[in-house]
Amino acid sequence: MSAVIGTQVLVVGGGPGGYVAAIRAGQLGLDTTLIEADRPGGTCLIRGCIPSKALIHVGATFEAMQRHAQGERLGIALPQPPTVDLAGAVRWKDGIVDRLSGGVSGLLKKAGVRVVSGWARFSDAKTCTVDGAQGAVTIQAEHVILATGSVPATLPALPPGDGVIGSAEALALTELPRRLVVVGAGYIGLELGSAFARLGAAVTFVEATDRILPGYDAALVRPVEQWLGRHGVEVLTGARAQGVIRDGDGLRLELRQGEAGRTLSCDKLLVAVGRQPNTEGWGLERMAVDMDGAFVKVDAQCRTSMRNVWAIGDLVGEPMLAHKASAQGEMVAELIAGRRRAFAPNAIAAVCFTEPEIVAVGLSPEQAGEQGIDVVTGQFPLAANGRALTMDAGGDGGFVRVTARADNHQVVGIHAVGAHASELSGEFALAIEMGAVLEDIAGTIHVHPTMSETLPEAAWAALGRAIHI
Ligand code: FAD
Ligand code: NAD
Repeated sequence: MSAVIGTQVLVVGGGPGGYVAAIRAGQLGLDTTLIEADRPGGTCLIRGCIPSKALIHVGATFEAMQRHAQGERLGIALPQPPTVDLAGAVRWKDGIVDRLSGGVSGLLKKAGVRVVSGWARFSDAKTCTVDGAQGAVTIQAEHVILATGSVPATLPALPPGDGVIGSAEALALTELPRRLVVVGAGYIGLELGSAFARLGAAVTFVEATDRILPGYDAALVRPVEQWLGRHGVEVLTGARAQGVIRDGDGLRLELRQGEAGRTLSCDKLLVAVGRQPNTEGWGLERMAVDMDGAFVKVDAQCRTSMRNVWAIGDLVGEPMLAHKASAQGEMVAELIAGRRRAFAPNAIAAVCFTEPEIVAVGLSPEQAGEQGIDVVTGQFPLAANGRALTMDAGGDGGFVRVTARADNHQVVGIHAVGAHASELSGEFALAIEMGAVLEDIAGTIHVHPTMSETLPEAAWAALGRAIHI
């Protein structure tokens, strides 16, 4: 006989969608239970956003020190070239993850959320059983929030194991691969592949489409392509992996590029060809909710087709981003508590933490054109921004671009590429969310010297009265 718990709100999955939903529900006085098979934090905190940004920082720091050792610039010299201990870097990264996961546990406790550890299996839409360390628990809920996230997509030709790894394994490597092949030059491939290249691995990308980061417009991606070229990273586009052969300690990847066949030798093969919703192994088929392709179908309030069953985050579709998951989680908790809410953002910012970083919020000029919107644009180069130059960040071809409606100057898109550009994403999103016009941005006094000054400069350029270019 398993213990039986009744709860008002049951959240399945403790990632940025689920844990935020649970905290907010608890804060609102709802009796809330969260089930998580792993530690709280989800893909993002444990093996995604946070660990990858830590590794990227290690790569950037190491490269900067190498430049100093070569006496390149800034007048700083190192007597010897630096060395990197990947095991030490991973320990540092794990410390950050432990600290943040512990912090999430503390917040859940403070909000009065009951946390059950183990894997949930549903027998019907409102009942599940968890086989945890303390034995089996059956939970019956008035409301269920599904936040089971996503798992890596795999390629049948490249079965995982024996050196064929995904992002989670790449983030736990304690020895630097000498030769790394990355299949898929999207978010994960480029972020991790660039970090390993900086640390000294010889990296080759194998990308099926005709360019890297096919989701971003070409102008934004060009500085990243140039960075890869300068760092000796090989990029094979229009290339598809056919199979892998284990060869002694190494691997041989067989691929086709156009009509030509080719073989690449490597120590590790990172497969980063997208993620798919986590819909299997927990009884979703017994919940009778409608699907939207591979994703759980939801409306603008994240309601599924089953009454009082809600779904959020990667499980419900693109964009598969942590901040979208959290925003949906916070909203659903408020809806359950009886507040009036809907998920209708004007734009969801996306950042690719490559070198240089790419920020995309709202419509690019091309996308606006496809929607029949007549636009004006203004662009400002980071090379003309004092703060960027003082941070040695003006020489990577970066820029900020504002796109606005030609008729009323309402801003419909803000895009940037450049070192540290991710930190500008919040202001970009705020401007679009609040319906700013070019004159609002141009009329807001920005601190000097900061990189944020590039935004009003781009707005002035769009208004035809640029000052610093
Ligand atoms: P998840 O974070 O996947 O959490 C789901 C949780 O549910 C997991 O902890 C899982 O253990 C648990 N679970 C699933 N099924 C059950 C069950 N039956 N019982 C109990 N528990 C269960 N996004 C960004 O916005 N910025 C980034 O920089 C970024 N970097 C990334 C880097 C990498 C390498 C990866 C892989 C992803 C990255 N992402 C990033 C994407 C981001 O991690 C996801 O969008 C986000 O984690 C989705 O949140 P979620 O709550 O929907 O699901
Ligand atoms: P992705 O969709 O960003 O990129 C996958 C790439 O693999 C694409 O360029 C695609 O054309 C290519 N591809 C697909 N099949 C292929 C094949 N057979 N051979 C060669 N190339 C192939 O997916 P991802 O990089 O795995 O990331 C998954 C998701 O995780 C992202 O879509 C994003 O939602 C999230 N993520 C976000 C961030 C961030 O916000 N900074 C970082 C990492 C991951």
